[in-house]
This record gives sequence, structure tokens and C-alpha cells, in this order.
Amino acid sequence: MEKKLVIIGAGIAGLSAGCYARMNGYDVEIHESHTQPGGMCTAWKRGGYTIDGCLEWLVGSRPGSGELYSVWEELGAVQGKDYIYYDVYADFHGRDGRRLHCYTDLERFERHLVELSPRDVRAARSLCEDIGALSKMRMPLGKPFELTSRWDDAKSVLRMAPSLIPMARLGRLTLQQLGDRFSDPFLRSSFANCMNDPSERALGILMVLGILGSGTTGYMLGGSLEFARTIERRFLDLGGRAVYGSRVTKVLERDGRATGVRLADGEEIAAERVVSACDMRTTLFSMLDGSRIDPVHRELLETGKLFPPIVHVAFGVGMDFSSEISCAGTFYELERPFEVAGRTITMMSVRNQCHDPSLAPPGKSVVIAMLNTDWSHWEPLLDDRAAYKAEKERIAAFVREQIEQRKPGFTSKIEMTDVATPVTWERYTGDWHGTYMTWIPTPSKPLIRMRKSVPGLADFYMASMWTNGPGGLPGAAQAGREVVQLMCRDDGKRFETSK
Ligand SMILES: Cc1cc2nc3c(=O)[nH]c(=O)nc-3n(C[C@H](O)[C@H](O)[C@H](O)COP(=O)(O)OP(=O)(O)OC[C@H]3O[C@@H](n4cnc5c(N)ncnc54)[C@H](O)[C@@H]3O)c2cc1C
Repeated sequence: MEKKLVIIGAGIAGLSAGCYARMNGYDVEIHESHTQPGGMCTAWKRGGYTIDGCLEWLVGSRPGSGELYSVWEELGAVQGKDYIYYDVYADFHGRDGRRLHCYTDLERFERHLVELSPRDVRAARSLCEDIGALSKMRMPLGKPFELTSRWDDAKSVLRMAPSLIPMARLGRLTLQQLGDRFSDPFLRSSFANCMNDPSERALGILMVLGILGSGTTGYMLGGSLEFARTIERRFLDLGGRAVYGSRVTKVLERDGRATGVRLADGEEIAAERVVSACDMRTTLFSMLDGSRIDPVHRELLETGKLFPPIVHVAFGVGMDFSSEISCAGTFYELERPFEVAGRTITMMSVRNQCHDPSLAPPGKSVVIAMLNTDWSHWEPLLDDRAAYKAEKERIAAFVREQIEQRKPGFTSKIEMTDVATPVTWERYTGDWHGTYMTWIPTPSKPLIRMRKSVPGLADFYMASMWTNGPGGLPGAAQAGREVVQLMCRDDGKRFETSK
């Protein structure tokens, strides 16, 4: 008889765990507090427009791009879909009217940098060499931390070898130092200020450029919610059940084993295995009693540095802005530093979702700005609806004015405005402080690997972006796969996958 498994959460990690568990003969029921699948990987409709709240790019989207593609294939997520592979990752618009195009083709990028500033030929060469070296990085996928042997570790190091040396060399480089490699003021400022904090490490942005330059990462037409629904269909086709509007409050346990879950309405669901595929902190301190925490989880929860949450401002515009604002990202160098969403910014990035006809009606655009913020900025507004609403309006007005200055007439074409904050995300998914990625990798820990269990509780596993830092869709999907590998080990079964 199939063992009953309850999964908490139908985000990408929960759906992935559900699919693999069905492939391996478990009787699976997912309980999701929301009315639809996807969690953070979602989209919402406003005034005839669809605002996509996640997918900018999907790592591993191209056939033959490695093990990650196989995972997406096993989940039925990538077959038969159409993709856009960006030629230009970002466009910088300088205060002086100059433009920098970050081409994903590195030879072209290097030529362009030299055209912009012939005296920076060496800096352009070394930047493109560094990005090229990082583009060879391949994630060590395949097995959870608990099942990884020394031999597996050695193989991972060998696979990552081409990028390990540049990673070590670049690990301490700040964005300011990256900018300082150039003598041209516009290039210097573009690199130093692209994240609005020149003291931030440059490695993250260089790795993103490397990943995009590797040609393995594209935008999937249809957007985030359709992506999640595709994996949900795979789960249902495999015979799984999903219960929506069903919030879990407790993991039930007896004699050191998980025995099921309790729902918000008090109903108890018995199960032989439980997987929590939602926020780690809520899982450990609220669904469990907070007494059994792995030391690595505790250290990360207490001292780990998280990616900052964001404010997501979207405008539905009754005009085709595709030639004005890039779909990958347009960065405006501001006239002066501004205080917005609790942070000082000198650069603002916007992008246009016009490349996906499923998101904006023909001839119209959805223009999005994402601004880093801090939870501490929003916390005092939690109990003051008027102040919270006013702050959202203030931020939307700021973004609108910045675009209007560069594209006169923009404001008069706005048909819809939508602002989502960390409060929105925390309320929607339960992720701590609305965080959408998890811990920031450091040079010594580019990937944060950890156990997917808690000490002293058998038959219980954790699978979410939180267990596979730094998070994102690949980390979430991989987490779901890994907990089923562990379950199979615990049940003495061979782990099976099917495409
Ligand atoms: C604006 C934005 C852009 C992004 N861009 C990208 C990108 O381009 N590429 C990329 O790879 N990643 C991107 N991400 C990150 C990515 O979306 C997340 O890292 C990933 O979706 C996390 O998946 P998850 O399943 O681990 O968690 P979640 O998506 O948080 O799923 C958890 C699920 O559990 C449910 N849940 C919570 N508590 C309970 C409970 N008590 N009972 C029942 N259900 C519960 C939630 O409702 C949710 O559905 C982006 C995110 C955002 C917000």
C-alpha cells in the first residue's frame, strides 16, 4: 500500500516534492493556504493587465543545458514552451544621455565598452574575461546534502573548478572597486551604482551576467503563474491531490515521528510522512514547538544575511513602450540621490513586460520597477492602513515621475497602478519578512547546503527555497526533489524519475 504523504504549500518546492513523490509511489495530498498554486511564483490581474510577480528568467531553460534542465523536464515544466533569450541583459541610461548596453554576447559587450571608452580597453577585457569564467559555473545538482559522499563532493568541485578560481579572486571585490577599474565616469558610475550600494559585493551581479551569458537561461512566455500551473498539471496527472484554501497550523507528532497535520479549522489529517514546503521559521517555531533545530538552520536564522525584500511597482500603460523600456531591464541614472522606500538610491531600474503577449493587451505595456527596501521600513506601518497606503502611493509617484522625465507623456497613458510590498508577500506566502530569495551567498559559501530534517523528528522533511540557499525557482524545485530522495532512502526504495 502507498504511504500517505502530506505536503504543506503548493509553491514550486511543494509541487516539485509532490511530483517526485508520486513518481515514487506515495499517496500525496498538498495543503495550500491560498486558492491557487505557485506561492511566490505568481501573477495577478488588474484592470485588464496581468502583473507578473516573479519570472524574469529561468535558469536551465535550454535543452542540453545540464542537470537542471532535466529537473524541469521531469516536472513537465519546460517542454513545448516558447522562450526569449535576451541579447541585452540591461541598458543603462546616463544623466548625460549616454547609453550602456550589457550584451549577453561577451565579445560584443567588450567591443561596446571599448567604443564607449577606448582608454578602458584593459578594464573591458578583464571584466568580460571574469564574466566568461563565471559563465562556466555549473550547479552541483543531483543529491541532497545528507546523501552526498566525499566522492560526490570531489566531483562537484571538479565541475565547478573553472569558476572556483575567479570566484575566489572576485569574492571580495565590491561594486565600487568594479566601477573604479574604469576611468570613464559613466561606466564607473553604472557599475558602482547598479545595485544602489557601491559597498555591496560585485560577485552576485557578475554571476548573473555569467549565467545569462552562458545561454542556458531564458524568459518563458506565459509567465510565472502559467509556469506553476504547468507543474501543478503534471502533479495532478501523476495522481496527486491538491487542497486549496487549507492552512496548516501544526505538524502532529507522536513518539518522535510526524503523524500528520492540523488545519486552521481544527481538522486533523493523518499521514505517514509530512513535508513542509513553506517558510522555515514558521515551520520550526510555529508548526513545530521550536525546540528541535539543526545548528546550521539556527545559525542562518539568527545571523544569516538575507537578500533585501522589494517594493514592486507596476503600471499598465495604454501605449507600446517596447522601444523605450527594455524587457530585460533599463537602469536610469538619477539626477541626484533620492530617499525612497527607506533607502537612498542613485539608480532606478525599470522593465517592460511587452515581450509577453499574455501579460499586456496588444499595443499596451506593463512597466515594472523593483526597489530594494527593508522590513524595518514597513513594520511601523503594519497597524496604520492609511500611512501604509500613503507610502505605497508616494513610492508609485516617485517611480512615475522618474519615467515621465525621460518619457514625456508616460503619466497620461497610465491606466493601472499596482504596488506590492514585503508586507504583501509575507501576507500572501508567509515567507519571513516578505523575502523572495534567502541568504546571500558569500565567497566561502557560494551555495548554502543544509539538512532537510530536524533533529529528533522522524518522517518529517523540509523542502523550500529556505533549505537550498540562495533560493529562487531552481533551489525550490531541487529541494522538492531532494526530500523525496531522502524519503526513498528512509523507505529502502530506489529513487525513480520519469519524463
Ligand atoms: C518579484 C520576484 C521576482 C523573482 N524572480 C525570479 C526569477 O526570475 N527567477 C527565479 O529563479 N526566482 C525568482 N524569484 C524567486 C522565486 O519566486 C522564489 O524563490 C520561489 O518561488 C520560492 O518557492 P518556494 O516553493 O520555496 O516558496 P513559496 O513560493 O513561498 O511557496 C510556499 C507556499 O506555501 C504556502 N503556505 C505557507 N504557509 C502555509 C501554511 N501554513 N499552510 C498551507 N500553505 C502554506 C504559501 O501560500 C506558498 O504557496 C522571484 C521572486 C519575486 C517575488
